[in-house]
Amino acid sequence: MYYLGIDIGGTNTKIGLISEDYKIITLCKFPTGNNVLNSLIEEIQSLFNQHYITGIGVGVAGLVNSEGTVIESPNIPSLNKVPIASIFREKFNVPIKVENDAKVSTIGEAHFGEGLGIRRFILLTLGTGIGGGLYEGQRLIKFPMEVGHMSIEYQGKLCSCGNSGCLEMYASAKAIKETLIEKIEDGEHSQAKQLYEGNFYKISSEDVYKLALDGDNLSRQVLKNAGKALGAGIANLINIFAPDKIILTGGLSRAKNIYIETAINEAKKRALKGLSETVEIVQSQRIDSAGVLGAVFLLRNQ
Ligand SMILES: [Zn+2]
Repeated sequence: MYYLGIDIGGTNTKIGLISEDYKIITLCKFPTGNNVLNSLIEEIQSLFNQHYITGIGVGVAGLVNSEGTVIESPNIPSLNKVPIASIFREKFNVPIKVENDAKVSTIGEAHFGEGLGIRRFILLTLGTGIGGGLYEGQRLIKFPMEVGHMSIEYQGKLCSCGNSGCLEMYASAKAIKETLIEKIEDGEHSQAKQLYEGNFYKISSEDVYKLALDGDNLSRQVLKNAGKALGAGIANLINIFAPDKIILTGGLSRAKNIYIETAINEAKKRALKGLSETVEIVQSQRIDSAGVLGAVFLLRNQ
């Protein structure tokens, strides 16, 4: 008897086949793409053909209501207003739970990762967008926690949510990539111009990180600024919630040098001393698995 844990992010989607005692039997990862719902249905069907699956837990990047419908997903527009839970229930006829992706990762970290035994922690998913979850007193606090859309620049860049100056316009993978491209367009020098046969529009945030580690000054500067913006956002969270721990996860959290280091220093510098001295800021050790495990945990304990 197995469960499926699904984590739909702005860039990648993961499907985990999970045993009753929360062992990950298989984990597959594919680019989210414009047609993610149909790709998912195909993948799930093929897993249903091979295994006895008794429920599906889903995390999705965006606002999700209690019926499991995506209300708004700025980074996966094809899922806007899609009733994922009822579509899957009709197709597969098993219990389904759909929640926000950062929330399922928060549950995953609380029970299987860096959140174990922590009284109050905040999780931040750093990827195409930036999401958040708050856990306290052994439960997930049901705030929206759309931390990526906190305003950190009151006359800043226009965000896909309609607001301007949102944190994710400065500190996300999308922002890092777009900022480097803009600077190259403005004539600044970067080794990125030599990638993809000169088509620097194809670069990813991973490329920017690799270039920065290889000594590309413009990439370093872009990552450092993104880290500072993230640090400002984290400082706001520390001042408001006074967490014991902040867990950083998502693909971009792998960029430890420059980006994460800058963010931690900046957050500690900006937050109130009495609060920043006691908070521990760490990288997740379960970047690919906390979401799928948390989605199944939430399904089984709803
Ligand atoms: Zn926004």
